[in-house]
Order: sequence, then C-alpha cells, then structure tokens
Amino acid sequence: MNYLGIDIGGTAVKYGIVAANGTLLCEEQYEVAFDGYQTPILDTVLKTSQTFLQSYGIAPCDLDGIGVSATGQIDSVRGVVAGVGGNIINWKGAPIKQALQTQYKLPVTVVNDANCVALGEQWIGDAKGCKNVIVITVGTGLGGGIIMDGQVLLGQAGYAGELGHFSIAKDGRDCTCGNRGCYEQYASMTALIRSVREQMPLQELPQLKKEEVNGKLIFELVEKGYEQITSIVDAWIQDIAVGLVSLTHIFNPELILIGGAVSTQETLFIAKVRNKVRALAMANFGENLRIERASLGNHAGLIGAVSYLIQKGEADG
Ligand SMILES: [Zn+2]
Repeated sequence: MNYLGIDIGGTAVKYGIVAANGTLLCEEQYEVAFDGYQTPILDTVLKTSQTFLQSYGIAPCDLDGIGVSATGQIDSVRGVVAGVGGNIINWKGAPIKQALQTQYKLPVTVVNDANCVALGEQWIGDAKGCKNVIVITVGTGLGGGIIMDGQVLLGQAGYAGELGHFSIAKDGRDCTCGNRGCYEQYASMTALIRSVREQMPLQELPQLKKEEVNGKLIFELVEKGYEQITSIVDAWIQDIAVGLVSLTHIFNPELILIGGAVSTQETLFIAKVRNKVRALAMANFGENLRIERASLGNHAGLIGAVSYLIQKGEADG
C-alpha cells in the first residue's frame, strides 16, 4: 500500500510517496508563491500533484489515499482552510479535501502542518513508541503539536495545538492573533533576533550592524563567549522554558521534541532548555521527562499527514 503525502506551505508544496511503514519512496517540491498567490495555492496543488505523479509514472489507482498537511488553521472535519496567518491571499476557504477527492477519487485527510510534524515524529521519528509527546518548532514563528494517549490532539475542528498563542505575559507584546503576550512573541527565533537588535549597539560588538543579526550569527557569537549576547540568549531560553513548564504541567508528556534550525545546537540550546525545564517543573513531572531535538526535519509534515490518513482509515473502516 502506498500513499500520497502532500505538505502545503507558504513558499512551496512538497509531494512524497509514502509506504505503509512510513518510508518515503520519492519526493519533489514546487513553488506556490511564484506570482504572489494570484494563482491560488490550491490550483497550483491540483496541477503540480498531477505533474508529480506523472513524472514518476504513478496512476491514482496505484494509491490508497492522500494525506495532506497544510499551513493555516485547518478545519480537519471538512478539510477546509478556515483561517490564515500572514499575507497569503486566496488561501482562506480553500476546499482542499473536496477538490482532491473530486480530482483523484481517493480518500483524503487534511491536518494543520504543525500537528502533522508531531504525527510524523511519532510514527517514524524521535517520538516513535511514545504516547505523550509535545513537539514545538522554533522558527520565524512558533508551531506545535500535541500527542496525547497516542493520538494527535485536534480539538473540535482541528485547530488545537496552537502552542505559539497561549499567553505568558498578560500585559506583554501585542500578537498578530489579537491577544497579548503570546508565547511566539517571546520564544520564536524572530523574538530572539528582535531582542538582540533592540539592545544594539552592543558594547562588545559596536561594529555589528542590525541587519546582519540572524540566528546563525547569534549562536556563533555565543560560542565565541560574547557575554552580552549570551545573556540575551539565556533570557530567551528562560522564556522558552517557562512556556514548556506550563505545557508540561497541563499535559504531563514523556517527551518534548524541539525542531527548527536552532535545535541543532545541543550544548548552547537544547541542554540549557532541558535543565531549566527540569529545574522549574514540579518534581514528579520533570523526573522522567526527556527533552530532545526533533530530527525528522523537512519531511516530517508529509509523512505525518499520511500517518493521520492511515489512522483515520483504520478508525473509519
Ligand atoms: Zn498570539
């Protein structure tokens, strides 16, 4: 049995043929923002998915279903894009499930991309065999997914797991979602870069220009022992830990996986987060809690989308 996994993001759509054991057999990606979304993303997906299948000589009848991971607030019951963050036009309201079902006459499931990453990690990644897992991705924003008792937590419509948007500061920074003090405003890479830029000029690095600051550079400077930068990074890690401690107290996970480019920093990042969370959480919660890097990376979304499709098929069948 083979499945088509589709991971629809704001810049590209990725396709992969995924076997029943989670192995990715082949993959390809296509641009979706080539004309500023004047061509709706869903139109691009309907077209490029055919191109992908044809280029590998695969007919729809060779497939057992299509699992879709998609950016935005996804109504998983209807398979529709219910809400959109950022500036993606012609995406809200896109009837993903219905359009793909009509085109391919196959079962289709659609789940938010961050939740799919969690499912992918649980199926064949670092969370394999774990039943209670929280996955966060620290990047431009902060995404997340929650696996409880072996199932991804979707809530009534599929919106659950918006870990970037619970507040850790009631009078804090305004958030794009309309709330204040959201976790994403403090714990994302964007937040760290903003903190460093706000405190410039740095006494230790007066020659450094604001526009040169990025995540990679920040960690290079920490590694070289620049104390001012290190203390900004440590304050950021403290904010990340505070949020994870609250999540730990609510969900009692056995494993927290952290993704995003910064997660490759074991000593300067992951180990510090781990120590802080263990120190701040109530003893029984921290005792058997593992905190590790999410290493499945780029393909976690489309593999997780297929994992959900298979689980759903078993549940329905
Ligand atoms: Zn928010």
